[in-house]
Amino acid sequence: MIITRQVTVKINEFNYQYFENLGYDDILIGTELDIPVELLSKGSHYKIECKCDCCGISKEVIFKNYVKYDNKWGEYYCRKCSENKRKLSLLKSHGCEYPIQNKKIFKKIKQTIAQKKS
Ligand SMILES: [Zn+2]
Repeated sequence: MIITRQVTVKINEFNYQYFENLGYDDILIGTELDIPVELLSKGSHYKIECKCDCCGISKEVIFKNYVKYDNKWGEYYCRKCSENKRKLSLLKSHGCEYPIQNKKIFKKIKQTIAQKKS
């Protein structure tokens, strides 16, 4: 989950237009603006505090990276738990921890290599 609810951004010539488009029409360059964390621009380097929904560990995450994780908005998993989650979903779809351990896939890879050789 995202702990940070509100962030303070400083208006500059680069983000001025972005916030004006969001409806903040009386802002001035150089002033600070309190905005809900959802309104940060996707490329923002602002650090937000997140808590892992699995193990409960708190982490500071750069907003830009949070967006990149492609979680459902509001969800957060630390590196360890998201790795476990990824393994689990692979386990479900392939019936094993890594695709290479799946005999069918392995056979296919071998065939492809054999085909390339001939
Ligand atoms: Zn975790």
